[in-house]
Amino acid sequence: RNFDDAGLHPVVRENLRLSGYNTPTAVQGYCIPAVLQGHDVMAVAPTGSGKTAAYLVPIASKLMGKVAKIGGPKVDTTAPDYNPALHRVRAEPLVVIVCPTRELAQQIFDMSRKFCYRSKLRPVCTYGGVPVLENIKQLEKGCDILIATPGRLCDLMDRPHVLSLNRVKFTVIDEADEMLDSGWETALTKIMAGGDTNEDADHVFMMFSATFPKEARSLARQYMASDYTRIR
Ligand code: AMP
Repeated sequence: RNFDDAGLHPVVRENLRLSGYNTPTAVQGYCIPAVLQGHDVMAVAPTGSGKTAAYLVPIASKLMGKVAKIGGPKVDTTAPDYNPALHRVRAEPLVVIVCPTRELAQQIFDMSRKFCYRSKLRPVCTYGGVPVLENIKQLEKGCDILIATPGRLCDLMDRPHVLSLNRVKFTVIDEADEMLDSGWETALTKIMAGGDTNEDADHVFMMFSATFPKEARSLARQYMASDYTRIR
């Protein structure tokens, strides 16, 4: 197996090469084709298994194939016809990735920048402990892929005109067991439900975890297609 026969977008393929990724790990070997085919995925994947690339690579590849839809609302607020009433939401990402810690969020962000290199996709990383206005400034510049810890993500969702999940096409819950253990079940439910008007039938959900406690299985039952791909 190698990355050449996976049917990936050539820009992603080249970015993998630049990052020195030649052979997919086991979880990548199963997850990449499943996501490319539009399946939801539930994977037992500990740190070190290559899980981050297992979801970032097929997501970036699919989005690059739909260039017209990417770019978010990059609003030119200095334009003469700028009407703030028409541009009330600053960020409408296509991908939301939630994870338990800022260190992990930063790692996912660094990796997503590598895979999105030479594309129009713009990743943004938000987590608690930094001023929320810093996050909002980053979101204002456009955000296609949002990587966040659950508390900060809910905070941003609750603020008027900052973030909408209505356009999200891929939701990734990384280290689900860690977040559920820390009491984020309600937050994850809200994040997986997405925006009020997100009725995209193709919305892909992915959950990665070292273990699958009953709260994780319950989230999967609520939001994922019943024929989701199980990887263990
Ligand atoms: P992860 O499990 O996503 O935290 O990845 C663990 C480490 O393995 C990271 O440093 C990745 O950059 C690296 N890695 C993941 N997949 C591959 C691959 N197919 N080839 C080489 N390195 C990889």
